Amino acid sequence: MISEKPRVRFAPSPTGYLHVGGLRTALYNYLFAKRTGGTFILRIEDTDRKRFVEGAVENLIESLKWCGLNFDEGPGSVTECGPYLQSERLDIYKKYVLQLVESKNAYYCFCNAERLEKLREEQKGRNEQSKYDKHCMSLSDDEVKTQLDNNSPFVIRLNVPEAQTVKFNDMIRGDIEFNTAMIDDQVLLKSDGFPTYHLANVVDDHLMKITHAIRGEEWLSSTPKHVLLYQYFNWEVPLFAHLPLLLNPDKSKLSKRQGDVAVEDYKGKGYLKEALVNFVALLGWTAGDDREFYYLDELVQAFELERVNKSGAVFDIKKLDWLNAEHLRKKSTTELAGMLAESLSESKYAEKSFSTEYLSLVVDAMRERVSFIKEIIENGSYFFEEPTVYDEATVKKRWTAESAGLLNEYVSELKNSECNTKDDFDKLLHSLAEKLEIKIAQIIHPLRIAVSGVGGGPGVFDILYIIGKERVIERINRCVETLSK
Ligand code: GLU
Repeated sequence: MISEKPRVRFAPSPTGYLHVGGLRTALYNYLFAKRTGGTFILRIEDTDRKRFVEGAVENLIESLKWCGLNFDEGPGSVTECGPYLQSERLDIYKKYVLQLVESKNAYYCFCNAERLEKLREEQKGRNEQSKYDKHCMSLSDDEVKTQLDNNSPFVIRLNVPEAQTVKFNDMIRGDIEFNTAMIDDQVLLKSDGFPTYHLANVVDDHLMKITHAIRGEEWLSSTPKHVLLYQYFNWEVPLFAHLPLLLNPDKSKLSKRQGDVAVEDYKGKGYLKEALVNFVALLGWTAGDDREFYYLDELVQAFELERVNKSGAVFDIKKLDWLNAEHLRKKSTTELAGMLAESLSESKYAEKSFSTEYLSLVVDAMRERVSFIKEIIENGSYFFEEPTVYDEATVKKRWTAESAGLLNEYVSELKNSECNTKDDFDKLLHSLAEKLEIKIAQIIHPLRIAVSGVGGGPGVFDILYIIGKERVIERINRCVETLSK
């Protein structure tokens, strides 16, 4: 039916931040566009002046860019379809809504708030759905003109037919029907001269040549109004795809109360953009196999809109954490070392300086043990400062009457050897254990306590090699002194 290359849009209202649900909508639009050789458009739906938030658009664009979702057309692009901020297109909406008035598919309404409130109360009393009663539709052209000449406040409403069936096809949900009896005569132009979402959305989707409207399920009930508008304008209706709701683990609608919803919160908590994008892609879509790990370009190859589910998608933070760890592990040492340096500069070790070479060694020792870069600092503090306290439970379990003596022996051996590699540390300890006829564990455990202060972590020889012979000796001396008191 629509033969040209797809043109899709992400059309957020700028609320101040990018919601993860918005990110999912943006991502599916992006993936669909990239997979089909189409165009991904960002349109800012900022016609609700009451909800205006300073800096919201910039913030939104920044979050999208951080995730790698660069738009082909959007704010700043100069094309025949722009501008891409609805607040800069007000004249366009006015022109089109007047066309509808002309064709009697829309009408002026001068009812004041009291009348509308009274109507609502009466309908409530009769247990009826609250709907405008088309009162102003019967005004003659002259009556309308007089009111307009008197500068009476007005809105323009959609003339919804009494009882007709509006049908459309949804790429995810199949054929959908609504009876217009359920649909209110929607306000199209507000008394402040701004269009409502419905008018602006349809006019722009048409003028921007949108072929597929891919959006959240919460807009499904608005779609019949949009279809009526397309029919009244005599415009081709785009294809629709309504994406499933995002749910909390208790199956309620995803809400701020049960966790973070803003992309920037996840960024701030140290999640990788690759992991967040990968996770969000799986909220309602699978390729049909059990693969879960994807990079953005792999998603482009695999994504099919037809494979998006109808049922709500549960936001499982544990899966996001798991994906974060997976993506972290696949990163190069150099990239991780850079990230660690950045994380350190925001930590209590900000004043200290560590070489890239050193940080690379730390990263390689720790990468399999953490889900977040900041955990390297939290769990591996001994790489950045000398331990001065020793974990009590570990000491109780692993520090024996012989430990201090054995460690002193080890220090003497260390002083007389080179220990340039991890292997050198390993060999030296083994030969000492052999010489003293003890089990290696008898010395390894107290040694770990001395150099790290804790019981777990990467291999002891990794730690020894990374911190280096001189500091190993200092740490052993300090520990022996502290624990022998
Ligand atoms: N402005 C709407 C939103 O905030 C756009 C819905 C649509 O894509 O039609 O989600």
